[in-house]
Amino acid sequence: MSTEGVIYRVAGPVVTATGITPKMYDVVQVGNEGLMGEVIKIVGDYSIIQVYEDTSGVRPGEPVTNTGLPLVAELGPGLLTSVYDGIQRPLPVLRDKMGDYIFRGVSAPGLDREKKWDFSPTVKNGEEVEAGQVIGTVMEGPMVHRIMVPPTFKKGKISNISAGKHTVEDVVAKVGGQEVTMMQKWPVRLSRPVMEKYQPDIPLVTGLRVLDTMFPLAKGGAAAIPGAFGTGKTVTQQSLAKYSNAEIVVYIGCGERGNEMTEVLTEFPELVDPTTGESLMNRTVLIANTSNMPVAAREASVYTGITIAEYFRDMGYDVSLMADSTSRWAEAMREISSRLEEMPGEEGYPAYLAGRLSEFYERACRAKALSGETGSISVIGAVSPPGGDLSEPVTQNTLRIVRVFWALDTKLRERRHFPTINWLTSYTMYDKQLGSWYKKNVAEDFPELKAWAMQVLQKESELQEIVQMVGSDSLPDEQKMTLEVARMIREIYLQQNAYHPVDSYCPISRQYVMMTLIKKYSDLAANALATGVQVDKIAYLPVRQRFNQAKYEENVDSELEAVSKDMETQFKGLGA
Ligand code: ADP
Ligand code: MG
Repeated sequence: MSTEGVIYRVAGPVVTATGITPKMYDVVQVGNEGLMGEVIKIVGDYSIIQVYEDTSGVRPGEPVTNTGLPLVAELGPGLLTSVYDGIQRPLPVLRDKMGDYIFRGVSAPGLDREKKWDFSPTVKNGEEVEAGQVIGTVMEGPMVHRIMVPPTFKKGKISNISAGKHTVEDVVAKVGGQEVTMMQKWPVRLSRPVMEKYQPDIPLVTGLRVLDTMFPLAKGGAAAIPGAFGTGKTVTQQSLAKYSNAEIVVYIGCGERGNEMTEVLTEFPELVDPTTGESLMNRTVLIANTSNMPVAAREASVYTGITIAEYFRDMGYDVSLMADSTSRWAEAMREISSRLEEMPGEEGYPAYLAGRLSEFYERACRAKALSGETGSISVIGAVSPPGGDLSEPVTQNTLRIVRVFWALDTKLRERRHFPTINWLTSYTMYDKQLGSWYKKNVAEDFPELKAWAMQVLQKESELQEIVQMVGSDSLPDEQKMTLEVARMIREIYLQQNAYHPVDSYCPISRQYVMMTLIKKYSDLAANALATGVQVDKIAYLPVRQRFNQAKYEENVDSELEAVSKDMETQFKGLGA
C-alpha cells in the first residue's frame, strides 16, 4: 500500500497519478498545493482522479497523496443557514480566505470547529441505545437538531453523557465505549440506512394550485421540472422552498449562467419564511456551484446535498431537496467522461448517465429512520434541456425514473400564463395513492372535482382544434360554454403569481373552495342554457370579473363567499 505518488498527466479537471494504490473513490491531495480530488478510475498503476479545484498550473511530477478515505459530508449542528460549495466548503469562509475567484488548495471544514452548542441529553447513563438512536438535542436557531448515534455504531450502554456547551468535536457521550461527537461523517456516494421505507401516500403540499390539485408530488417522491431557459424553473423551486410543507430545505444550485448563481446567493438569504416571518435560511442548507467552480465539484455537489438531506430525514424531518439544474450536473459528468476518453453514449453523455440519475432520485423516500422517527426526502429536480427539446437524454432518462413531471412551456410563458406548467403534458403517478388523503383532509369530492376540471381542459384542447379551423361561432352553445369554463379554470385556478402577496400561496382548503365555485358556475350555466339563455349573457355576468379578482384580495376567503352568493343572484336574474 502506497499513499505517496506523483502526477503523470493533467487534462483539465482530470489528473492521472502513478505510485499510489488507492481504492475507488478515495480522496487524494493533488500537486504542490494539495488540491482535493477523488479517484474515479484505476487502470493498472494509473489512478485517475477528478479534481474539485482548478488545476491550471499543476504539472506532471508534482506529488499526490492518498488519504485512503472516501469523500464525506460532515453532519451535525451548524449545517442550517450554511452556504457551501459542492464539496461542503463554506463559501463565506472561502471568500474571506481567498477573495471571490480562485478557491484552491484551501481546506475549510463543513462544520465550524470553534462554535459551542448547548447539548441536552435525552438518554441517561446506563441506558442501552442502538445505532441511529437520538441521545440528545441542540437548538439550532429555531430548529431542534437531534444528535444521533452514528449508523455504523454497535448498540451499547450510554456512559459519560455530558450536558452543556460543546463543540462538534467534543465527546458528548460514549456508547459501549465508542465515542460519540455531535458531528458525524458520512460518505456522500452512499445512502444512509433506514429501518423501513414507506409507501408515499401523503402529499407534499405546496400552496401552488396547479401542483397540489392537478399534479401532486408525494412526500418522499421525486419530481422533475423540465423547461427552457426563462420558463420559471428557478421561480417554481423557490416557491416550493418557501411554501411547501417540508421542514428542511436543501437547495443545490448548479448555475446555468455565470451570474445566475450570484442571484441565488443574494436572493435566497433574503427569502422570508412565511410561517415564522424570519429568514428561510434558518431551515435551509444552500449548496452553490458557480460557473467558475470546476466541474468535478459540481458532480459531487448533488451527493453532498442529498447526504445532508438524509441526515435531517433521519432526525424525523420532512426535507425537500431542490436541484437546479440537474442538466448542469449531467454536463459535468459528460465533461469528466470525455476527459477519461470513455465511450460516449447518446449526445456524448456517458453510458452510466441513466444509472447515476436513478441512484440519485432513488434516495428520495419516506421512511422510518434508525432513530425510530419518520422522515422524508422529496426531490425536485429542474432540467434545462437545450432549446427546450424534451427528447434529449437528460430529460428522457429523468422521466423514466421520477413519477411526477411538471412540464414548463415556452408558449405559456409567451402568453404570460404563470406558472407555465402545461396541464396537458404534465402528469403525476401518485394520484391513486394520494386520493384518500385528499378525501380525508380536504373533501370527499376533491378527487372528483379535479377529474372534472381535467376533463374540461382536455375537452378545451380538442375544441380548440376545431375553432382554429372553422372559428368558434360554429360551435354549439354547450361547447362554447365549455370553452368559457375552461378559461376560468386556466385564468382563475391554474394561473398563480409567485410574487403576489396574497396569491403566491393558496392553502389547499381555499383551492377546494375555488374549484367548487368554478364547478358551481358551470352547473348554473348548464341550467341556464337549458332554459334558453344565450351564452354571451352568461359569459358577461359581472360575477366573472369579481371571481377573477378574488384571489388577489386581502380578504380572499370572504370575497369567495361573496362570489358564491353573487353567482346565485345573477343567474337568477337571467331567469334561470
Ligand atoms: P428559469 O429558471 O426556467 O430559467 P426563472 O425561474 O428564472 O426561469 O423565471 C424567469 C422569469 O419568469 C422570472 O424572472 C419571472 O419574471 C417569470 N416567472 C416565472 N414563474 C413565475 C410565476 N409563477 N409568477 C410570476 N412570474 C413568473
Ligand atoms: Mg433558473
